[in-house]
Amino acid sequence: MSAAADELNVAACRTDLDGLASKGGAVVTGVADATVFTDAPEGHRPTDILPKAKTVYVVGGAQPRAGDWQSPIYQHMETTSFGDKMHNLAQRLSRYIEDHYGYYAVCVPPGTDKGNQPFVNFSLAAELAGCGTKSLAGPVLNPEYGFMYYSIVISTLPLQVDGPLDEPVCPAPECKEMWDAEGTTPCMSICPIDDGGCLGGKLKDGRVVERRYDQARCRTRVETYWIPGFQKVLDATLKEKDKEQQKMMLYSSLFSRTLWSMTYANVSQGQCFECMRVCPVGSKHRIKK
Ligand code: SF4
Ligand code: SF4
Repeated sequence: MSAAADELNVAACRTDLDGLASKGGAVVTGVADATVFTDAPEGHRPTDILPKAKTVYVVGGAQPRAGDWQSPIYQHMETTSFGDKMHNLAQRLSRYIEDHYGYYAVCVPPGTDKGNQPFVNFSLAAELAGCGTKSLAGPVLNPEYGFMYYSIVISTLPLQVDGPLDEPVCPAPECKEMWDAEGTTPCMSICPIDDGGCLGGKLKDGRVVERRYDQARCRTRVETYWIPGFQKVLDATLKEKDKEQQKMMLYSSLFSRTLWSMTYANVSQGQCFECMRVCPVGSKHRIKK
């Protein structure tokens, strides 16, 4: 029987949704107030997608396994680390909210809208839902598990809001010690912006006070074979006048890997995780026998 006819038990709804999320592979969940996304540009807020939205239910998980971090062949990460699992879960949860509770629920596409902007910024949602805080390296870090993928369900369901965390997860205590001793942190050290990398910044009194990030350079390493890689190779191939050269480009391992990569996952997938590999947050979950 639908619970819509009954008076809504908000706490029971949350327990119910968390149970389903956990069974579906989420390791963290959180709820954000749908009306507080003022840091997001107009047109990219939850209430732009669902005007009467009250809450944003966030699920996080699908991070690389401990064994993945051990592999010297980092390229295999593209088959293990993508957000589909969380997105598929969010789709099931949105249907469940509508069918079981009788409230509107929208699962937001993980791709980009106009101007390469996300429909709604999942990282901001994860922060506002208290799943973690933004890090110097970029990703939202959960205090227990560190890096993970997030997906969201925007809903009129009036869940209790968790709200943002009070304390930043980054920098970790180990990073503060490293900064005091060496003037850098693990992520900045592995990918230094002034030496061919993408990350820079400053810590003061144990807090990140400055962050530098070369997004364009990072993107060429994170999405080497995925949609941006496909666009780049296709552009070069179409412009090539020499038929033999064009054929070589189409059948090259770069183009083949690009196509394989796009068929592994229909949403974003990472191919560089070096800053997360060295990040101490959640590292205990990356150690097995
Ligand atoms: S994902 Fe790779 S390229 Fe991007 S900041 Fe991290 S280490 Fe650097
Ligand atoms: S390595 Fe340290 S400074 Fe860098 S993202 Fe992780 S916690 Fe933050």
